Amino acid sequence: MAKDYFKVFDFIFVGAGISGPFIANDLCKGGANCLMLEAGNHYTRRTYPTNGLDGTSQMYWAGGLELGHDAKIAFLRPKVVGGGSIMNQALVDRFDDVALDDWKSVSGIKDFSMADMATWYDKAESEIEIQEIPAKFRNKNAEIFDQGFKNLNFDNAPLRRAQNDCRLEEGNCCIECLNGCRLGSKQSTPETVLKTALENGLTLASQVEVTQIIAKNGDIRVIGRDAMGGQVSYRAHNLVLGGGAIGNARLLLNSGFGKKLPHIGQGFFCHPQFMSFGIYDEKINSHLGAFQAFKSDDKGFRQEGFKLENVYAGPEGIALLVPDFGRIHHEYMEKLSHFACIEVCTRDTNPGQIKVNRKGKALIRKEQNKEDINRYEKGAKVIDDIFKSTGAKEIVHGRFGIGLHLMGCCAIGTDPATSVIDPEFRLHGHGNIFAADSSIFPNAPGINPSLTIMALSKKAAAGILRSR
Ligand SMILES: Cc1cc2nc3c(=O)[nH]c(=O)nc-3n(C[C@H](O)[C@H](O)[C@H](O)COP(=O)(O)OP(=O)(O)OC[C@H]3O[C@@H](n4cnc5c(N)ncnc54)[C@H](O)[C@@H]3O)c2cc1C
Repeated sequence: MAKDYFKVFDFIFVGAGISGPFIANDLCKGGANCLMLEAGNHYTRRTYPTNGLDGTSQMYWAGGLELGHDAKIAFLRPKVVGGGSIMNQALVDRFDDVALDDWKSVSGIKDFSMADMATWYDKAESEIEIQEIPAKFRNKNAEIFDQGFKNLNFDNAPLRRAQNDCRLEEGNCCIECLNGCRLGSKQSTPETVLKTALENGLTLASQVEVTQIIAKNGDIRVIGRDAMGGQVSYRAHNLVLGGGAIGNARLLLNSGFGKKLPHIGQGFFCHPQFMSFGIYDEKINSHLGAFQAFKSDDKGFRQEGFKLENVYAGPEGIALLVPDFGRIHHEYMEKLSHFACIEVCTRDTNPGQIKVNRKGKALIRKEQNKEDINRYEKGAKVIDDIFKSTGAKEIVHGRFGIGLHLMGCCAIGTDPATSVIDPEFRLHGHGNIFAADSSIFPNAPGINPSLTIMALSKKAAAGILRSR
């Protein structure tokens, strides 16, 4: 897109992940003139990288994993048009009373109730297709998960995935979709709301990283860097922040907003996830067919602050997690087709923090406290029992935690001293800067976040349209 110093847009969006396209779609339909700036590349289903290594290095910030200060959790932060909706496992869950009641009390916002949110979940779900994996397509890894739950008398439930046709009857192995779905089945934003936003007049500029926001006299100026390293600058009456937890915090801090809003960067959560592997005599071939079908649905687990998921990853991811080096590591990897995998995802209680260094780079501080470690250990114990009860010969626990659900740092709330975004989704003190993405989460819900990001974004868009 040509550099345009003179045109004034109604709205500029930072980030084309999940939230940005959901809001832009509704605003464009309402007649707004919108520009969306995304730091990552714009792939299509024909151009996604074809292997895990290329996918990771080309579609994540820092070329893949980013580490916190103590290197105990590795964070994966998507950088691509479509953001997390391209890379994620597409599991879509509504929050429960536990999550919403906590949000109500920590934010002071009464609207966080099942009744109010149901309206917005309905609207979000009307934009995507959601399916469960039919029983006949569950693979051996899923069967082990289900059998283990039955053996131990725990409750599980089928996963709800945002997908429309994974062509499983043709023998498709859908683990591929973690690097972008080449079938167009995964309901990523480029396949859904971003597509319609573009049809409704949205201007999208990829490979433009926004580096600074200047908000003056009711106007917004956005400064960024394009793919060639050149400076670009755009103007608008309003700004929508959709850069995710770390992206928004970094940009706001680098733009000086932290002086008036001291909570920017605080309250970082990530649902640390730990994969464990059961190694069986027979081949499990967890990578074949539908790679995920079940989740835990056990009230006891929810009270204890963890959930389990039937999951798998590409060989490059598993190689990182399997312990040891050299010959021993090689021997594990040779047995890859005999691995079953279950993940424990913890509802973290210890808030982390994002700061920026003098060069403007994001620094992540995120520790697991005693309670968080306790939650992980309880989940890992159940996984041990599941694998043992289904005949695993060896059990291997992944070497470190992974942070995929990056949340918070610009918490929503009524009080500007302890929050960043007000109940109308505006930056406190700035009537024309909005956010409804993962950065506004006031704490970790312990439930997959993306459907709630979509629902909050629909709600924010409706509020913006009402006030125009
Ligand atoms: C591997 C993986 C699996 C996951 N699985 C699930 C799952 O099954 N279910 C679920 O609910 N959630 C899942 N998640 C999490 C979910 O995808 C995220 O919570 C969600 O994408 C966050 O949406 P968002 O709109 O807040 O930000 P994102 O989707 O992260 O989008 C933010 C976008 O903003 C861009 N950006 C940031 N800063 C700038 C800047 N300064 N200038 C320009 N652009 C910028 C980024 O490049 C990015 O593309 C998963 C995540 C990963 C990585």
